[in-house]
Amino acid sequence: MRKKLALVYGGKSAEHEVSLSTARAVTQAVDFGKYEVIPVYITYEGEWRKGKPLEHPAKTIEELRLAGDGTSQPDSMHGFLNGETPDIVFPLLHGTNGEDGTVQGLFEVMNVPYVGNGVLASSAGMDKVVMKQLFAQAGLKQVPYVHFIRTAWEREKAQLVEKMEQELGWPMFVKPANLGSSVGISQATDRESLIEAVELALKFDRKIIVEQGVTAREIELGVLGNDEPKCSVSGEIKPVATFYDYEAKYKDGNTALVIPAEVTNEVTEKMEDAAIRAFKVLDCSGLVRADFFVTADNEVLINEVNTMPGFTPVSMFPLLWQKTGVTYPQLIDQLIELGMERHTEKQ
Ligand code: ADP
Ligand code: MG
Ligand code: MG
Repeated sequence: MRKKLALVYGGKSAEHEVSLSTARAVTQAVDFGKYEVIPVYITYEGEWRKGKPLEHPAKTIEELRLAGDGTSQPDSMHGFLNGETPDIVFPLLHGTNGEDGTVQGLFEVMNVPYVGNGVLASSAGMDKVVMKQLFAQAGLKQVPYVHFIRTAWEREKAQLVEKMEQELGWPMFVKPANLGSSVGISQATDRESLIEAVELALKFDRKIIVEQGVTAREIELGVLGNDEPKCSVSGEIKPVATFYDYEAKYKDGNTALVIPAEVTNEVTEKMEDAAIRAFKVLDCSGLVRADFFVTADNEVLINEVNTMPGFTPVSMFPLLWQKTGVTYPQLIDQLIELGMERHTEKQ
């Protein structure tokens, strides 16, 4: 008997199109002999559309949009619950409502196994402040930062600016606490641009984190597993832009990925140790991509983990595993197995 695998893709987030590309690649890599693939497309408006099982891998993104032909109400899981429950769900979603624990909570309530991180790891990984506080508790080195909410900024802007100037050096990186893909992030080089950057970030979130900027290489590691996670080889991002912004991530395609990264064994060991500790302190399962800053004197600072990293075949996470000896189809298969395993262990 083939297992029913529901692929959930699209979504209300800014990464809708990226999710569709991922879904196409996953249908091309999944073993149709082992799994019956059920498409579940979430429209830009948040409507869940479950379609009939796919007969063959998707050739185009359009095919996947149309595959979700079932009717449902906006913002409801009605169409998804209709009919048989899948054996496992693979959420191919990024950002808000996709990798922040909310959709994971929905699957928990439905008692259906799903691929990737659970509610706690997803939501803790989505909030850069909570994530950093947990990293600190696990003894991980990171850049100094200050955080505050909108109300505090409105009441005591001058004191907050002073605190940042005292505790952090220029340039500073201003970020909404709860986004990804570099959305709403800007670099501030003086008081004026700092205030501007905070005002911009506040358009995206009520919680803001301001970090000291570092001049460093950006190196990433894939982690795969549940209770005994393993690390991939490392990979370096060499952006053409001044920093790894949204355009560089998804549009220009010129960002060079160097895999494995050219680093000493000592740096590799430091990153592996930190990646596993980060995975454990957030109670992750399935996968994460751990992102580091490596300074000229080989200091390793953790920047963040991403609980649902970019997952097209040309994204960093799958490429890291490919270089480690795990092909894209094998990676998908392992992630599904890990999702099943976690569900069984909880029972
Ligand atoms: P996101 O979750 O949106 O990817 P990041 O915290 O990774 O947010 O920031 C996006 C990019 O901004 C990083 O990949 C890096 O290029 C740059 N950046 C972020 N924080 C810093 C910092 N403290 N110092 C230097 N560069 C930074
Ligand atoms: Mg991120
Ligand atoms: Mg990042």
